[in-house]
Amino acid sequence: MIFDKKSKLYFREKGGFKVDVSMKMSAVDDAFKEVPPADKMIVFLRQNIGAETKPLIKEGDSVSYGQKIGDDESGGLLTVPVHSPVDGTISKISNMLHPISKKEESVVIINTKTENKVPSLTPLDPKQSSREDLLKRIREAGIVGLGGAAFPTHVKLSSNNISTLIINAKESDPNIACDIRLIIEKPKEIITGIKLMAKILGVGKIIFATRTKEGEIAEFENALKSNSIEIARIRPNYSVGSERLLVKEILNKEVPSEKYPTDIGVVVHNVATAYAVSKAIYDGEPLVSRGLTYFSKDTGAQNLWVRMGTPIHHILKHVGVSPDAFERIALGSLMMGPTIPNSSFPILKATSGITAFTKNEINPYEYSLPCIRCAYCNTVCPVNIYPQLIMEAEKRGDANRLRKLHVDVCIECGLCSYVCPSRINFTKYLTSGKKIIQKPT
Ligand code: SF4
Ligand code: SF4
Repeated sequence: MIFDKKSKLYFREKGGFKVDVSMKMSAVDDAFKEVPPADKMIVFLRQNIGAETKPLIKEGDSVSYGQKIGDDESGGLLTVPVHSPVDGTISKISNMLHPISKKEESVVIINTKTENKVPSLTPLDPKQSSREDLLKRIREAGIVGLGGAAFPTHVKLSSNNISTLIINAKESDPNIACDIRLIIEKPKEIITGIKLMAKILGVGKIIFATRTKEGEIAEFENALKSNSIEIARIRPNYSVGSERLLVKEILNKEVPSEKYPTDIGVVVHNVATAYAVSKAIYDGEPLVSRGLTYFSKDTGAQNLWVRMGTPIHHILKHVGVSPDAFERIALGSLMMGPTIPNSSFPILKATSGITAFTKNEINPYEYSLPCIRCAYCNTVCPVNIYPQLIMEAEKRGDANRLRKLHVDVCIECGLCSYVCPSRINFTKYLTSGKKIIQKPT
């Protein structure tokens, strides 16, 4: 799909990218297979947008499945606890290179394989629970947005004056199908999770956004309808799944730059987050595992159920491949997700995919050339900002210009890099540009 070794210096044409829907469709029919936890699990103490947690354990301690191992209640609203994915012994607490940021505190747990998977929280009866009780439980269970943003779910659900809840099951990444698979396998829990979210927000209007065609998930759609949940069929374009674009597509409302959907009375939650909310409240289960799609061109797609903290090499071994068989591995989809420097990196709460690029798919950005000012990147951007100008402003460290260019609204879809004939990888300029404008002036 991306590059052949023989064409290292071959320029791409605008619009030359294709989203091969057969990749997704091959994954839809693949039932989740549970990956047993590894002997050594690595759990980062921050797995969400927001502040770090502090370790609640020390080296040598024994921990049980679902036990809270990191939290900081004084760390502010955006702090979300993390839990042990196994029964085990804490062997090391140290700073490690994080898959998507700088070094962060992590906990290495030696799996003692003694667990009986008893949920660590007491199930709640929503009818007997206040809004505050439910929000507190969602925080305690460590739930964050599972669509990729990892924004604390309890914070979004605390919003007031919300008129519409959109459940995002669009899943626009071409090679990821874990959300649609979850709908097929766990329809009841998803519906209860959606209703819990609506109850907490106090909204009457719920819209389920899906790329599926009428009849594809007929039973689930009937359940949505009988619970007065509207269905919005979204065109299957890549990147329409992002919150801002979804709000525009469904409600024809613009979310202004520097604002959020909540500022215009809309909350968007991923469908897998609704499932996690249901499990936390009805079953007392903290967020220690999730569904994801593993994809490589050689083997196709497979849906896996994986505990957070499982190293990638362990997952690849389970799938029956060696990490050495690949040119590089991305934590995410074909279009988004950082390349990890080695396969010992663990799965995070926000990891919805592992994409392994074969030896014939060399990194297209390895041999970048100077910008030729063709403007393809600007024309393809779904949020109508100018990546090429942002890149120039970032290189100069020009915070004012970056603000004027609205770098903050970039949804990191990767399309600008994908169409650039000079093979410029914009990710570093866009993420760094966002950081520059956050610095106090
Ligand atoms: S990654 Fe590029 S194309 Fe996508 S939103 Fe950001 S600037 Fe626009
Ligand atoms: S960075 Fe330059 S060369 Fe690449 S798409 Fe944008 S304008 Fe064209």
